[in-house]
Amino acid sequence: MMNSNSALQPRPLPVPSCVLGEGPLWDMAQQLICWVDIVKGTVHQYTPASNSHTVIAVNQMVGAIGLCTNGHFIAALQNGFGFIDRSSHQVNMLQDPEQALPGNRFNDGKCGPDGGFWAGTMAQDEAPGAGSLYCLQPDLSVIKKIEGVSISNGIAWSSDNRIFYYIDTPTQTVAAYDYEMAGGRLSNRRVVIHVPVEEGFPDGMTIDNEGMLWIAFWGGWKLARWNPHTGKKLLEIGFPVSQVSSCAFGGKDLQDLFVTTAAEGLTPEEIHRQPLAGSVFVIEHCGFTGLPPFYFGEMAGR
Ligand code: CA
Repeated sequence: MMNSNSALQPRPLPVPSCVLGEGPLWDMAQQLICWVDIVKGTVHQYTPASNSHTVIAVNQMVGAIGLCTNGHFIAALQNGFGFIDRSSHQVNMLQDPEQALPGNRFNDGKCGPDGGFWAGTMAQDEAPGAGSLYCLQPDLSVIKKIEGVSISNGIAWSSDNRIFYYIDTPTQTVAAYDYEMAGGRLSNRRVVIHVPVEEGFPDGMTIDNEGMLWIAFWGGWKLARWNPHTGKKLLEIGFPVSQVSSCAFGGKDLQDLFVTTAAEGLTPEEIHRQPLAGSVFVIEHCGFTGLPPFYFGEMAGR
């Protein structure tokens, strides 16, 4: 049975809205939420306690960011992987595994328990199967993990770091893989959640401390919590915007849910009906607790 909980009211953060907001990430050290606007090429940081917001312009599309152990960002940019210095805003490009594929761009990504930065690609014209999922290793080499991906999106690891969950959006599924932390090897792919098309397109994803997956639904006006062991939906939270793109737990006790959304591709009439499209929302004290993010260059000890 699915429960909807009207007590869970998303509130837009008091910051300018995004065109394509994505990749929310809680910085435990600085107690702030970061996210990207992919098409504007900006990285945002918002500190709830002081209500302060800063923007780093990286001057190219940026699909996702992760945190390095030195406090700076690792990023999946239009032209490959790169470090972003949070003080100087300098971008230091590393390698581009898809230099030969100029029609592709990086989409969703996240640091993993192996200390790598996992990020996937898609064709900008959404050509099926044109993308891949890569892992930038701490030694800065790149390994292709999954190929034939159409729109690489949500990534999450189980709390015991033994299962990798992955969303290639057009498949309308969440796939699980056995995952070995040492080396980050994936094996034994199986589908654990089938998402009916009426729900919307499964997009970004996070996991809570009970092992349940939180999935953002592009075109679905919602975020939903699913059980990957039964394939069943447990709860959904409605949003006043259609394109809900990704989610991350944050806040002092990882009990606040931060959710990005997008205005990209909406008609003027649709924007009129959903003026908050592109906002980043928070659901404070949501009743569930997330897991802390991983860091680039550091094997997880959790
Ligand atoms: Ca996405």
